[in-house]
This record gives sequence, structure tokens and C-alpha cells, in this order.
Amino acid sequence: MRSVRPLRGGARLSLIDARGLHKDYPLGDHVVHALRGVSVTIDTGEMVAIMGPSGSGKSTFMTILGCLDTPTKGHYLLDGRDVSSLDDDELSGVRGRRIGFVFQQFNLLPRISAQANVEMPLLYCEVSARERGERARRKLEVVGLAGRAAHRPAQLSGGEQPRVAIARALVNEPILLLADEPTGNLDTRTSAEIMAVLQALHRTGLTIVLVTHEPDIAQYAQRILSFRDGLLVGDEPVRERREAAAA
Ligand code: ADP
Repeated sequence: MRSVRPLRGGARLSLIDARGLHKDYPLGDHVVHALRGVSVTIDTGEMVAIMGPSGSGKSTFMTILGCLDTPTKGHYLLDGRDVSSLDDDELSGVRGRRIGFVFQQFNLLPRISAQANVEMPLLYCEVSARERGERARRKLEVVGLAGRAAHRPAQLSGGEQPRVAIARALVNEPILLLADEPTGNLDTRTSAEIMAVLQALHRTGLTIVLVTHEPDIAQYAQRILSFRDGLLVGDEPVRERREAAAA
């Protein structure tokens, strides 16, 4: 059963409530319709994979879910708040407090330690240096990298780098973790390790949405949304979910 947060009066609140999302990109003298009316709800505590061919609108959808951009038309309610028409400052506030991102390239800063990378998002918050350090250490511990805090990204293995990116995404205690092809550049074994970390986080109650083009990886989620031509064309539970061995 999905865990949902009841509202007063018995109504239920989805963490993500997308209603008729459209996104148009002007391109030269025409317009690309990247999303053409996507409606879907995702509840607190779900782990959802998004699949679909290249150009089907997955990244655009994630960009809107992550409050990096707003829809051209439609509404996006995040935890009950309509964020579809916020300005850039307001969006960035919501992002900073509520959303963690893991990108395919991990985007780690090469010249600083894992610890300093994880602390980065807190530099923009009113958090003391000591607290920053403690929070980052705790998150490195959660992803199994307590002993690697002083290493720079290049001194970490291909499986450790994504863990740093995950720790960094968690350091603001987000309610939603978004991952865009988190295993896109990893071998099978390392991918399974990363999915183990994500599944462990999911077990703690974190809501996770990830984009993947690999059907095997999508099977680690509980539910698969399929996109095609800017539309949501499939929404299926994963029947035989893969359970990653603990990392
Ligand atoms: P996917 O992630 O499934 O590959 P995208 O959401 O990246 O799909 O892209 C959907 C469509 O929107 C594609 O046709 C793509 O070329 C177009 N698109 C995405 N971003 C932009 C942009 N910033 N400007 C113009 N077109 C874009």
C-alpha cells in the first residue's frame, strides 16, 4: 500500500501532483512541444522510474518536478503547494529546501574533497561551518563513504563518485530525490551498488524519482512511468521488483 499523508477532513495529499503539464520551447521559427499534457500523481514514499525514448520529454518533466523550470501550461503541486507560477527566486528557494538532485555526470567539483562537495549546497543556507561539516559527514556515512571524506573525486572509484553525489543531494534533507540517469555511465556491478543505496534511502521513507533508459534499472523502482512524444503513455507497477543486495 502506498503511504500517503492524509489531509484534515480525510482528503489525501500527493507529494507530486502534476495536472495537464505542457512545455513549449521556441526554436527558431517554430515551437517544440516537449510536454503535451502530462497528468500524474506520486505519493510520499514512492520510488518511481521514468522511461521513454530519447526526446520523449523525460528530462523536461524532471526539470519541472525539480523546480528548475515552470510549465508553459498546467499546474504542478509539490506537497500541496502550486509551484507552477513561482518566479526564479521562489523556485530556487523551494529547490534548496525540498529537492535533491543527482545528475548523470554527478557534477562533482574536482579540486575539493568529497566532504567539501557534500557541504556545497549548505553554503547558500544559514548553517554554521561546524554544522555543515557534521551534516555532510552524516550523509557520507549514510552512503557508506565515512572513510573517504578527505578524498578528491579523482581519488574515488567509479562507484564512490555517485555516492558523493547522492550524499550531496541529501545534505539539505530533501523530501524528494530526483536522479537523471544515475547509472547511465556505470558498469553493471556499480549500477547495482548505486541502486542498493537508492533502495536503502527509499526504505527510510524518501520519495525517489529517477530517469533511466535501462529496463533492468527501472525494475528496482516500484512503479514505471513511460513517456512518448511528450505524453505519459504508461503507468505500471513493477510486479517483480529487483532488490539490490545491501551495498
Ligand atoms: P528526453 O529527456 O526524453 O530525451 P527532453 O525532455 O530532453 O526528452 O526533450 C523533449 C523535446 O524537447 C525534444 O524534442 C528536445 O529536443 C526538446 N527540447 C528539450 N529542451 C529544449 C530546449 N531547451 N530548447 C529547445 N528544445 C528543447
